[in-house]
Amino acid sequence: FLKPIERINALMDMYPKGMAGFKRACELLDTEPDVSDDPMAVDVRRLRGDIEFRNVTFGYEGHTKVLHHVDLQVRAGEKIAIVGPSGAGKSTLCSLIPRFYEIEAGELLIDGLDIRRMTQRSLRSQIGFVQQDVFLFHGTIRENIAYGRLDASEADILESARHAHLEAFLEALPEGLETVIGERGLKLSGGQRQRLAIARMFLKNPPILILDEATSALDTETEQIIQRSLEELSRSRTTLIIAHRLATIRHADRIVVVTEDGISEEGSHDELLARRGVYARLHEAQFGG
Ligand code: ATP
Repeated sequence: FLKPIERINALMDMYPKGMAGFKRACELLDTEPDVSDDPMAVDVRRLRGDIEFRNVTFGYEGHTKVLHHVDLQVRAGEKIAIVGPSGAGKSTLCSLIPRFYEIEAGELLIDGLDIRRMTQRSLRSQIGFVQQDVFLFHGTIRENIAYGRLDASEADILESARHAHLEAFLEALPEGLETVIGERGLKLSGGQRQRLAIARMFLKNPPILILDEATSALDTETEQIIQRSLEELSRSRTTLIIAHRLATIRHADRIVVVTEDGISEEGSHDELLARRGVYARLHEAQFGG
């Protein structure tokens, strides 16, 4: 007789917390999204991946401008590294491509079409993000890799895991792909999380890739494996690498330097060193004279 009363007591404690959470969820659902689809927006099929910023200006709401009159062209399949001081706007520049924010002025075109004329869903399906914070949910490794392409076959998932050098890791797990990870599941190391994110991208196979290079410390061996997988992943895709360390970007086709004034320099590693400008100074700061 006492047990149910104790339970009711516990429920009475939980009720206000639950209601507060419910109200917050309702508020969130009521909020209008910042970016909405134009009624005439079209679903784009597989894009080639030519990206063009034409005189783009952008600032976060209530903040000063971050990007002023930016012009940048990235050819399909080209690999560019974006470098610059912290806070200059490297991540902001990349977050405009999937249209996470609305630009204030100018145009952003992919394959010659203004991204505002594409449905966000179809636009984002063409873009792969590999970020420092890998989003994993409570579920199996299989579900986490296939997130974004739920119709993937077993063979495709295994192939992606192989490209991301996850094979040995999976073999060591008694339940392999069916191992539950994330909250309340197996905790993965930073390197394993990154490789899982890379496997996801191999499976998604987007024509455009945005890599936010990890700053978190990984051991050298893991780092080399990840670098190799990323190089393989970026092959024949338009790739923008937000680079925090200059050592890893020498193989980019082009380096774009973003500063508070916008894009201040562009060129190869050697060209930019010879200019003795911002890039040369960043390089000196990281590697000495
Ligand atoms: P880092 O190398 O440190 O990652 P970054 O060059 O990528 O920096 P951004 O993250 O693009 O720079 O930030 C550019 C500016 O915009 C900064 O002044 C930052 O404080 C501001 N900023 C970034 N995100 C937001 C946001 N969601 N809301 C308001 N301001 C923001």
